[in-house]
Amino acid sequence: MEIRDRYAPSPTGLQHVGGIRTALFNYLFARSRGGKFILRLEDTDRTRFDESYVQNLYDTFAWLGIRWDEGPDMGGPSAPYVQSERGEFYRKYAEELVGRGMAYYCFCAPGRIEQLRLEREAARSGKPGSPQTGYDRRCRNIPAAEAAARAAAGESRTVRLKIPLGETTRFTDRLLGEIEWANDDVNPDPVLLKSDGFPTYHLANVVDDHLMGISHVLRAQEWISSTPLHVIMYRCFGWEHPVFCHLPMVMGQDGKKLSKRHGATSIDEFRRQGYLPEALINYIAFLGASYEEGRDIYSLKELEERFSLDRLNKAPAVFDYKKLEWYNGQYIRMKSDEELAELCLPCASAAGLFGGSAPDAEQRRVFTAAMPLIKERLSFLHEAPAKIAYLFSEPPLPPAEEFFPKKKDREAAAALLRIGRELIRPLAEAENDEGAEAFVKGEAEKRGIKLGDLLMPLRVAITGARISPPLFGSLRILGAERSLERAGRALALLEKREPSSKNAFP
Ligand code: GLU
Repeated sequence: MEIRDRYAPSPTGLQHVGGIRTALFNYLFARSRGGKFILRLEDTDRTRFDESYVQNLYDTFAWLGIRWDEGPDMGGPSAPYVQSERGEFYRKYAEELVGRGMAYYCFCAPGRIEQLRLEREAARSGKPGSPQTGYDRRCRNIPAAEAAARAAAGESRTVRLKIPLGETTRFTDRLLGEIEWANDDVNPDPVLLKSDGFPTYHLANVVDDHLMGISHVLRAQEWISSTPLHVIMYRCFGWEHPVFCHLPMVMGQDGKKLSKRHGATSIDEFRRQGYLPEALINYIAFLGASYEEGRDIYSLKELEERFSLDRLNKAPAVFDYKKLEWYNGQYIRMKSDEELAELCLPCASAAGLFGGSAPDAEQRRVFTAAMPLIKERLSFLHEAPAKIAYLFSEPPLPPAEEFFPKKKDREAAAALLRIGRELIRPLAEAENDEGAEAFVKGEAEKRGIKLGDLLMPLRVAITGARISPPLFGSLRILGAERSLERAGRALALLEKREPSSKNAFP
């Protein structure tokens, strides 16, 4: 059997972790079984539709590298299936069910339906176990000829499914096992076709899954309450239903459904925060699933080969921002210097690192050369510019105390910096870190000073901070001349006589 599955978002919001987890699992499952992954826009709720959300979906897929395999016109650039363009199918199938007595026209005015809803809600709030919400089936028994005549006369109507009462609907969820639902508890005679001729989610979803030959429906667990209804619809149509597999929920650390309260949830937001698509894919692939070898890092290609429905978890997945951050760091470290520079350059330009314009060739060279200095310490791309800004413009001189090694005063710091200054040229011209380190260690020993004490004032003079990227690499990138200038400037500060407090406030 060919595996065919789909991601069927309603473009009523930005793509977020939960939706993309569903998309990714469908994508991976289809790939793992040599099947087809289909994208279908369920955009029939026109009141909540917004074109920008469709664009967001495309952008997110492109950024993450998820591609779909099929659309109505796979000749050109592949557009997905779009439900608002498929109205004729839904109307045809709704009418077919009416013709076979399995659905009926409902002529109740919207005002009446609203009234019913309010009454039931009021009753429900009073006592537990009072009647279910939903329609009272008033039009269910209008004789077919009368209903047809009223429809022919143009009376406004919806089409409702005639749920077979007194029966039980059963299906097997691939993950959760046997599910049983008394038909009388299913949403009573739900609308399939609205009075504007648009289908409801249920009708369009079932008709399309059938017409598109969907073999597996992998979707969020919140849809499971709709599934008995869908199974009933498949039976009414006389179609075999796909395998249903409801994916575990995604929660925050507090056990509540993942939401804004927990942090970023839209993929867009993660992107802006400097996450790499590989890190997100890798992490999201673990939200409710595991992989045989039990390691953490898998490329998309590896996930495509390994994903299996047998390795889904029933328990809810907990979204761990710290773990995602760890993944991001891992993927940053896997980049070459050139790749990482390419990724970080846009935020560096935006941060004004190159004087408010795009970097010139020399600035690019320096930027790329600086990547090894920060790669190990970066969790996010946008942290890069601040960490290496000192390589592009002279950092502001910090207060004198910042130059003092532990337990040392101003004089000592100045003396150490004088020695450090003498070492700048050989350090800046050293082949590599090892050479620089051996040299500077020898010099410290010779003079009987601690290496840390020797390097602290020099580090602050060069980078502007006590904690900085590696000093030797920085000296090599800046070169002897600029480094000497910075050391001189710092020394001037340290050698200035400290104003006494008496003099300052006569
Ligand atoms: N349009 C639904 C959604 O927004 C699809 C649910 C399903 O996969 O059946 O998630």
